[in-house]
Amino acid sequence: MRFGIKTLDEMDVRGKTVLCRVDINQPVDRAAGTLKSINRIRACVPTVRELSEKGAKVVLLAHQGSDIEYKNYYTTRPHAAVLTELLGREVQWIDDVCGPAARQKIRELKDGEILLLDNVRFVAEEQTLFEMKLRLTHEQQAKTLLVEKLAPLADLYVCDAFAAAHRDQPSLCGFEQVLPSAMGRLFETEYCTVSQVMEAPDRPCVFVLGGVKISDAFLMMETVLGKGVADRVLTGGLVANIFLTALGKEIGRGSVDFILKSNYGEYIEKAKALYARYGEKIALPEDLAWVTDGQRQEAVLGQVPADIAAIDIGSKTAEAYRTSILNAKTVFVNGPMGVFEQAASELGTKAVWQALADTPGFTVLGGGDSITATEKYGLSDRMGYICTGGGALIRFLSGEELPVVKALRHGAAL
Ligand code: ADP
Ligand code: MG
Repeated sequence: MRFGIKTLDEMDVRGKTVLCRVDINQPVDRAAGTLKSINRIRACVPTVRELSEKGAKVVLLAHQGSDIEYKNYYTTRPHAAVLTELLGREVQWIDDVCGPAARQKIRELKDGEILLLDNVRFVAEEQTLFEMKLRLTHEQQAKTLLVEKLAPLADLYVCDAFAAAHRDQPSLCGFEQVLPSAMGRLFETEYCTVSQVMEAPDRPCVFVLGGVKISDAFLMMETVLGKGVADRVLTGGLVANIFLTALGKEIGRGSVDFILKSNYGEYIEKAKALYARYGEKIALPEDLAWVTDGQRQEAVLGQVPADIAAIDIGSKTAEAYRTSILNAKTVFVNGPMGVFEQAASELGTKAVWQALADTPGFTVLGGGDSITATEKYGLSDRMGYICTGGGALIRFLSGEELPVVKALRHGAAL
């Protein structure tokens, strides 16, 4: 048991039917019917392989795409093909989630065989809009169609979907109410890694927070500064721009327009309050960069022209952040320092990311665009840990109990 949750070491799966929820949600190329990335599929391979090799009948449950954004809503068929290739053994697939065809297929599985069901979000109760509107309790989730149809066919439930651990949906929280449950290997690694950062980080512990998701960054800051987890927070991106604006610094009208247009005005007040309380721990840029006619321009604070839009930290700031990161024992990163997608404004992110690779400290990195930056600079192998779960990670670092963690604790006692 770790953190009150069973691991695969405590489960005897031989000959058992195991429902295993994975998060293999990937960007989809609809026209070609293929996946644009397979990172998450690769990440769940150890758990699937272990279950299969130990002789379980493995039934994989997964979602693809969000009903809110909808553009990636898709079947899981291509995932089965990728998994088959990665595992080197056949992963069967069926275009059904919990209907008679799926149930028949599950009954026919032999020891070691693997079946991936179709997108669980084709079932209404699995949709995020349904979750947000109806807010079913875990007991109610145990009475949903999915759980009532599939649980009687299964002996055990395993959740390996840390990236979806902040979701409160039947495939994630319902089965733990009726089946003995454990976390998979990926979940175990991710959860233990982020718990370690939160509970007992090696110090100094530095948080690098950039990007555009201000509300997440502020929630995390309140928690990690409030609990004394973070010794220092290095700010970049829009997060830094908000603080600078709150402190009355000129960051260029374009940046302020961006902040106001994005309806972030309310965060100015929050930034003021955070800075008043924890100012000595919050590092802000001393210089900023913008782009004019495709050329990078930089100025120290106080000399930033009023008619520009600051879209990167300056090189002095990047150098100072590099020093902090090299001296840190633990570094947690979420959000790039600037608009790294274009060459003229990538210096800050590139320099900070290089420092993350160079530091002897343990680095934990999460967030879709942060991972993209890591891949762009070829540094994936040099980070301590790249977390697959952006949303779950942020919720966790904001001090929330994750619904799936709660459910798995319940299922550990069955
Ligand atoms: P992550 O996906 O890693 O959690 P976010 O989604 O919060 O990060 O932010 C990433 C985006 O932020 C990138 O697309 C980047 O171009 C943008 N960005 C970074 N700094 C700025 C800035 N100063 N102004 C506008 N956009 C920015
Ligand atoms: Mg993002």
